[in-house]
Amino acid sequence: MIRSIILGLDGAVPYTMFEGARSGRLSNLARLLARGVHANALPFPAAVTPGNWASVATGAKPITHGISDFSLHIPGQPFTDHVNAFDPGVCEAEFMWDALSRQGLKCATISYPGALPRRCEGHIAVGNRGMPGENCEHWTAASAAGYAAGIVLDGPYGWREQMDVETAAPESWTNLPADCVPRAQASLGIAAANPGWSGALEVLALLVSAAGGDRLVIAPRADYESRLADLAPDEWSDVITADFSRDGRPVEVQFRLRPRVIDAAAGKFALYASAIYPTAEFSDPPEAGQALARRLGPYRDTLSLSRLLTGWLDADGPLDLFREQGVWQARAALELVNDGVAAVFSKWHAFDKFYHFFFHAIDPVSPLHDPAQFDHFERIHLGIQAIADEMIGIILDGMDDETVLVVASDHGLTPSVRQASVNNFLHQAGYIVADFAPGGNAVIDWSRTRAIMHPFTQIWINLKGRDPQGAVEPEQYDALRDELIEALRGWRDEDGRRVMAEVFKIEDGGFYGLGHPRDGDIRYFTAPGISVYRNVAVTSNGTLVQATRGPYTGDHGSSRPSTRFGRGSETAMFAMTGAGVARARERRGPVFLCDIAPTLAHLMSVEPPGNCDGAVMRDLLA
Ligand SMILES: [Zn+2]
Repeated sequence: MIRSIILGLDGAVPYTMFEGARSGRLSNLARLLARGVHANALPFPAAVTPGNWASVATGAKPITHGISDFSLHIPGQPFTDHVNAFDPGVCEAEFMWDALSRQGLKCATISYPGALPRRCEGHIAVGNRGMPGENCEHWTAASAAGYAAGIVLDGPYGWREQMDVETAAPESWTNLPADCVPRAQASLGIAAANPGWSGALEVLALLVSAAGGDRLVIAPRADYESRLADLAPDEWSDVITADFSRDGRPVEVQFRLRPRVIDAAAGKFALYASAIYPTAEFSDPPEAGQALARRLGPYRDTLSLSRLLTGWLDADGPLDLFREQGVWQARAALELVNDGVAAVFSKWHAFDKFYHFFFHAIDPVSPLHDPAQFDHFERIHLGIQAIADEMIGIILDGMDDETVLVVASDHGLTPSVRQASVNNFLHQAGYIVADFAPGGNAVIDWSRTRAIMHPFTQIWINLKGRDPQGAVEPEQYDALRDELIEALRGWRDEDGRRVMAEVFKIEDGGFYGLGHPRDGDIRYFTAPGISVYRNVAVTSNGTLVQATRGPYTGDHGSSRPSTRFGRGSETAMFAMTGAGVARARERRGPVFLCDIAPTLAHLMSVEPPGNCDGAVMRDLLA
């Protein structure tokens, strides 16, 4: 039977990817386009991760699966509550893995949103549950850590991502190489941190002066022969394993070390430790991950790009981590398909993370752009593209003629030039009524508040009969929405530029796949380059629109899905090749992400997921 591999590249921008293929720089993507079909893909609003990967895997629009914001408001709950859009059970449409399992087939996911907890026998869930955080559930024992003696490494935002340790005179070490002069020593406990986990690897860090420069020796005792690593700055250790326990059960874990700074004579160092992740126990059922780990080596699902921002990794550090993860995902997808799995849905998060933190660094449209920094960050940007291209190449080289490959993103990102506070606007226009405590915290008077943005891209009327402290009579609902829409459409920043590109009633959102009861009463699209504050709080100083300062200098979700701005776009990418797919065809119009699953189901001769409201893309078939 025909099998499918979905290589998800979270946040990949079609314009730069397809340009890279045309220029020959991304040679494997170029091969894919020559052998298959491609197009821009329109995400559904809000162009966010959980909702759009849900559309890819369910073949359904937000009106059906119910995920159209970064987090979710459940109608009738207080506006102070919200539900994580990655939480189990929030997606109301059937996933492809459950549909295939129902038909007696196997389907695997790798780090894919919505995949955990596993519900069906035929589903193999590898990796975490798709959240992009720097310390993601489900298997991670501890996020990345930084150990520093005599040094503070910090980024522009005052995040202090380090644990301070003391160095002292070294004890007497045995078996040191002749050229190593011990200068100072510290004790480190590389420990589990996440709930349910316990364990620590206690090691000594010895700073030595050596012929080739200063080095850091990591060993469990003062014997060089027992060393786990002997490293120069910006050099990776091998994988280091340790025995931790989770819920009282022994679990072998692994991590790597990479010193950023070693000044042996001064007794100073800064040492990065990667996230701690199980060596083989990272899947449900566990045997699937164990089998993959035996063939491919360990998987690592928690990557910390913030460490590039705070200086704990040089540029090559995160590229190495992203490459290791991406190559593993591509190889694992092939292994799984060769083992008889009907479809594999994987998701790799490098583009999204990079653009969020560093879009200003690679795009002159950003007021924060520094031309002197461009080459440095563009090298990382192109490096991420090259890894994605390598992943595509691994699958193209390894797939047989009974396999279909889809490469897709869930959304792109654009530089964020200005940020708008919708709730401050609603407060100043009198729709939110609040008092401010001396510390500046808003206390909202719900009895007089008529509308609020919640969570991030939707506006709710505080409606009597639906909302716990409803203040608006049902007969005023529609007139109030008309009034709000006019007010928001007229909103201009201090320079007279429009803040909103469009504001509409939810029942006019059908064209965008909206209309689920969780989708809000009013939706909006911000003008290109304007993002919304991810903090929904009303503030007494009342800033409405201000220049973006970070940390998210690139963003997605609040603009129209078709927005292109600077070097970025909200628009996502789509490419497909393999059994039954047309060759060398570019679709003039966009692909809708909900059309991927029904098209794959058609090619595979299986039933599409049960709530699928997308269509088979017959124009892209051979
Ligand atoms: Zn995403």
